[in-house]
Amino acid sequence: MLLDLRPALVAKGEASFPQALSLCHRAGYEPLREPVPIAPAAHYHMGGIITDDRGRSSVDGLWACGEVAMTGVHGANRLASNSLLEGLVFGRRVAEDIREAGPSTQPAAEPRRCPPAVASLPAIEAVRLRETLRRVMAAQVGIVRDASGLHAAADALAALQIELDNLVATGAPVDFAALLHCCELRNMLAVARLVTLAASLREESRGAHFRSDFPEARDEWRRRQVFGLADLDAAAADAATARSRITAS
Ligand SMILES: Cc1cc2nc3c(=O)[nH]c(=O)nc-3n(C[C@H](O)[C@H](O)[C@H](O)COP(=O)(O)OP(=O)(O)OC[C@H]3O[C@@H](n4cnc5c(N)ncnc54)[C@H](O)[C@@H]3O)c2cc1C
Repeated sequence: MLLDLRPALVAKGEASFPQALSLCHRAGYEPLREPVPIAPAAHYHMGGIITDDRGRSSVDGLWACGEVAMTGVHGANRLASNSLLEGLVFGRRVAEDIREAGPSTQPAAEPRRCPPAVASLPAIEAVRLRETLRRVMAAQVGIVRDASGLHAAADALAALQIELDNLVATGAPVDFAALLHCCELRNMLAVARLVTLAASLREESRGAHFRSDFPEARDEWRRRQVFGLADLDAAAADAATARSRITAS
């Protein structure tokens, strides 16, 4: 994909785009002479951990704010420059709420699917799994999606989950960097699977989400979807049952 910046550079003048020009020059391109290669990038993630207006999540003692949170101030689209609201306003509210809440008196909740103390993942395996995860998400859960791609992605991610669980179970003794790889990958995979599940159920196009097999917005989908990790297990079991029915018939 190429972008011809020349009309904008001529109309507004080179001085209006110092950063873009310097980036292009550093990468060896001359946008005044030729179109430059571009690639899509994720600007903002819609959805996230549900919070109230003080940033409290459903887990006692866990607050969320910024891009990771779904405070309810956005719908299926997000306006530019709202990071100020997300980061600054909610960041302050969360800080104040934590201060007012004081130390928790509740016993810490037992974390679900937390890697065992000796779990670790060799860096080379972590890089391989992470790249596979990224490729699946970019190819099938990107800007334009459809049912067959989303189902294929769900299967590929479920297979990655099994691979990761097996690798972790047979992992070498603790090493902090390896443990970090493992935790990050688990979290990435959980988020990727939740996003894919939500996208496959939403049979419409709305805001920044476009389903090529359901290109219109539908009134019955004017709502949010809320999922937890248990829903992933249920969805994987449903998919396995559906597959076995197809194989048997
Ligand atoms: C290309 C691009 C352009 C954008 N342009 C705009 C714009 O014009 N206006 C606008 O409002 N928004 C814009 N955004 C969105 C905005 O940048 C983000 O929404 C905002 O920065 C999110 O802030 P955050 O603090 O929630 O998360 P982040 O800025 O992602 O901060 C999270 C931090 O956590 C750290 N971290 C991650 N994992 C760990 C770990 N395990 N342990 C410790 N630390 C960890 C990361 O290193 C990072 O510093 C843009 C985003 C992109 C990608």
